[in-house]
Amino acid sequence: PSAESESCALFKRAQKVIAGGATRDTVYFAPYPLYAKSGQGARFVDEDGVERIDFTNSLSSGIHGHCHPDIVEAISAQAKELIGVSLPTKPEIQLAEILVDRIPAFEQIRFTNSGTEAVMLAVKAARAYTEKAKIAKVEGTYHGSLDLAEVSQNASPANWGPLDKPKSVATASGTPKAVLNDSVIIPFNDLARSIAILEEVVDDLAAILIDLVPGFMRFLMADQEYISGLCEWAKNRGVLIILDEVMTARGSYNGMQEVYGITPDICTVGKFVGGGMPLGVVGGRREVMQVFDSTSEHGALVPQGGSFNGHPVSMASGIKSMQLMDKSAYDHLALLGDRARIGLRVAMSATGVNGKVHGYGSMIGFSLVSGDYSDRRSLFELIKKEKDLMMQLSTYWFNHGVFALPRGALLLSTVMTEADIDHMVDVTHQFML
Ligand code: PMP
Repeated sequence: PSAESESCALFKRAQKVIAGGATRDTVYFAPYPLYAKSGQGARFVDEDGVERIDFTNSLSSGIHGHCHPDIVEAISAQAKELIGVSLPTKPEIQLAEILVDRIPAFEQIRFTNSGTEAVMLAVKAARAYTEKAKIAKVEGTYHGSLDLAEVSQNASPANWGPLDKPKSVATASGTPKAVLNDSVIIPFNDLARSIAILEEVVDDLAAILIDLVPGFMRFLMADQEYISGLCEWAKNRGVLIILDEVMTARGSYNGMQEVYGITPDICTVGKFVGGGMPLGVVGGRREVMQVFDSTSEHGALVPQGGSFNGHPVSMASGIKSMQLMDKSAYDHLALLGDRARIGLRVAMSATGVNGKVHGYGSMIGFSLVSGDYSDRRSLFELIKKEKDLMMQLSTYWFNHGVFALPRGALLLSTVMTEADIDHMVDVTHQFML
């Protein structure tokens, strides 16, 4: 950090007019965030003119890197034709067709502007369909900023409660008690305890909200048994499964649901599906999606308006992004992901760093200190232990051409090369020496 840097000056200026200085808490880091100016391919340049390889790609949504020429062309062609209009457009149908074809859970879909909104509509759809209020979610998972979905995403130990009855802990101050009463918290990868908790509330339970490779848990993978067990229990008990694939759809051509062999009742995707433009998608079984059908006799059970939903420019960008995400793009990402994981493991063992590397495909999670973590609770302790070291690594990366937030997570893009991965691994190795 340097008080003379343009980013520092911009942050000071921003603090006067933007609460906390920046709109997205998820991209802030102390003492001030870097201000990005331009980007091409896997790299972006900050306001001080420094170029870095981007290992966050807009928190996963820029999977084709910065200003991909095909996406820029699709966006500008659409912007010249029509930007926004109070009518549906053909690109909306085109993108919906691609998604219904691609994601097994999708028989029908609806568009939103973000993953947060997609999760919000998924929750509303589950409630409308089942006429029940409670939603279960896994302790420590992140699903955007709907008050119910963010419950217990990052609670501190004093508030956890026992593992066989984790407390619903508000993330935002002022969250109404009713929201906490309606959220049921189950422990990650602990099937027996989760089912015991769910059984107690089954009469009021609309859905279980799950993520197969939670980003807030550094891409630790959910156990197959845990997921299959929850899905089976839900099916037998008339409870819906909402699978949040806003992040994980980047893991496999047909989403991570294909890898786990499950077909949820409702599913959300977003991020790269918009090619870097704002977009979210909620979809699922036709019967459940009927709650949005405003052409039915009694109108929609869940009305959805939204000035920007189905925005033509997001649709055009999304169509191109999905076309670029063909099987070979997934193969390329999987190869790069394995190269990064192996490289980091080798660097750790060569330097005696007793950390861990995991994740799936283009989602990479790691820690720099020893410690067994298998859920949010154990991870919480480890995050505390390695906080300073993680910040030092990020700073070292910033100074050596690599950009990643200090979180023990990396995201790859389709425009990255093996040389980009090797550069990140080499720099990490130097840091560990
Ligand atoms: N669900 C998951 C699993 C996510 O990773 C995110 C974003 N990080 C969201 C929902 C929210 O999506 P958005 O940021 O587009 O609101």
